[in-house]
Amino acid sequence: MSSIFTKIITGEIPCYKVAEDDNYFAFLDINPNAKGHTLVIPKKEVNKVFDLDEDTYIGLMHFARKVAIALEKAVPCKRVGVSVIGLEVPHVHVHLIPLNSMKDIDFKHKVSLKPAEFEAIATAIANHLD
Ligand code: 5GP
Repeated sequence: MSSIFTKIITGEIPCYKVAEDDNYFAFLDINPNAKGHTLVIPKKEVNKVFDLDEDTYIGLMHFARKVAIALEKAVPCKRVGVSVIGLEVPHVHVHLIPLNSMKDIDFKHKVSLKPAEFEAIATAIANHLD
């Protein structure tokens, strides 16, 4: 069965898309730790990040870096934090989280955003991509 994230890539499940190329996809986390919390995934469905083949792993980090640079321009923050967990969704994803304090990297701390806010953030990040 396809993962939730594969269904997001194929459009079966909606998302607030930030970026896409042939191999990678970035979209806003639906339950963000902080405004701008973004997930970056390989289109290839693999459970654990260090099980990715080396080229896909390096490509994922390269793509995540581009998104993180755009994210930091779009969402005011001290820096963008990176985390890979995967205990909830068994499809590799890199969390990019705009950080202003330690609570922003705490996955028990969540912020509530309206659909229009998600839309505006996704558009702002996309507009800052090179
Ligand atoms: P992890 O697997 O790293 O523990 O966390 C999975 C993350 O994916 C969570 O931050 C959660 O909010 C996010 N997530 C789970 N389901 C969906 C979904 O259907 N859409 C989006 N945009 N994010 C999701």
